[in-house]
Amino acid sequence: MNQNDMKQIYKDCGISREVYAYGESIMHTLRNRFEEIDKVAEYNQLKVIKAMQANRVSEACLLGTTGYGYNDIGRDTLEAVYATLFGCEDALVRPQITCGTHALATALFGNLRPGDEILSPVGKPYDTLEEVIGIRDSRGSLKEYGVSYCQVDLLPNGDFNFEKIKKSIHEKTKLVTIQRSKGYQTRPTLSVERIGELISFIKSIKEDVICMVDNCYGEFVQTMEPSQAGADMIVGSLIKNPGGGLAPIGGYIAGKKEYIENASFRLTSPGLGKEVGASLGVLSSFYQGLFLAPQVTASALKGAIFASCVYEKLGFQVFPDSNQERYDIIQSVTLGSPEAVIAFCKGIQSSSPVDSFVSPEPWDMPGYDSKVIMAAGNFISGSSIELSADAPIKEPYTVFFQGGLTFPHAKSGVLKSLQMLIDQGLVSKSLL
Ligand SMILES: *Cc1c(COP(=O)(O)O)cnc(C)c1O
Repeated sequence: MNQNDMKQIYKDCGISREVYAYGESIMHTLRNRFEEIDKVAEYNQLKVIKAMQANRVSEACLLGTTGYGYNDIGRDTLEAVYATLFGCEDALVRPQITCGTHALATALFGNLRPGDEILSPVGKPYDTLEEVIGIRDSRGSLKEYGVSYCQVDLLPNGDFNFEKIKKSIHEKTKLVTIQRSKGYQTRPTLSVERIGELISFIKSIKEDVICMVDNCYGEFVQTMEPSQAGADMIVGSLIKNPGGGLAPIGGYIAGKKEYIENASFRLTSPGLGKEVGASLGVLSSFYQGLFLAPQVTASALKGAIFASCVYEKLGFQVFPDSNQERYDIIQSVTLGSPEAVIAFCKGIQSSSPVDSFVSPEPWDMPGYDSKVIMAAGNFISGSSIELSADAPIKEPYTVFFQGGLTFPHAKSGVLKSLQMLIDQGLVSKSLL
């Protein structure tokens, strides 16, 4: 196609020739990395199709049930697909699981009893889990039910503190929770291989301890999932990677049959478990989203790498940096001032297909100790597999960027953010 047409459409979308040209100079350096990502997506695409075929997904599976949802063949088949795909005995994949935190809480409450202890050997878990566990006092936490918590931080160089982990496992230790993604921290994200290593070590000390992995943001980034490296349970949200941008709600728990059943008795009711839970009309989006998920995850990953390179070359601190291996889809960029963080988010918002005319502003979000700004013009509210950015308005003024259902959208969002920074005089045009 004509290069001028391309420059023109970017210009029409508010991205100057200079910013576009800068973006293209970055694109040239990324060919090999993108090829590698495409290969992982290709492998995972076939893995998903194979799991669907093995479980004889049929047109009837795409329909839903109402009421109690007894004999929901679509729901039961989808759960079998997830189990096959992740190499597990069983899975719970439900629209009644409202979000990732709920999925994790369900897995924990279902499998822990008073007197048990949870160990996190990889440092502090995701913010919302602090209230589930009771690290921060909250009503209804596991702590209130007599479940204690023990944490071993990573060593300063990011390694596991094996010695301290060993000392922290005792007769009460029932479950070990391992968060794959760094989330919004600055530790490295764990590869499936490293998670496997950690689980083998833990099992060598106490064989019957339940190893649960918070798999949020990690699905399909590699060709293996933690359940294929020894995890007893993996847990995630369907409005992140495995929903492929189409699932309008939901979460999953996959793993050993006994643990999935325990979680199901918590999700619905003792005695009822997996037998109830109508899928209503969402199953076709669960199936189709899962089908698209490897490709969507690849797009988000490419967007994260593109953002990393664009901002690193301009002198900003980025994490992961442009050369690091990636095991999740989150990119952080430290912009150094509140104005720059706000401009970045406005750029992302204005590049969105939905709510592009809305201007995000920092606000006092419940549960945070500073104002937070969030940018997302989403089809599914709050979906962070869609292009989105958020940042607490506090030192060192770091923005977290993730998602992008298609790479061209992620790319244009990153360029628009840069355009916004340039237009406001926060980045000098001469750097391009
Ligand atoms: C998103 C996320 C969660 C929580 O998911 P919600 O859907 O926001 O409740 C938990 N852990 C990690 C690592 C996450 O990224």
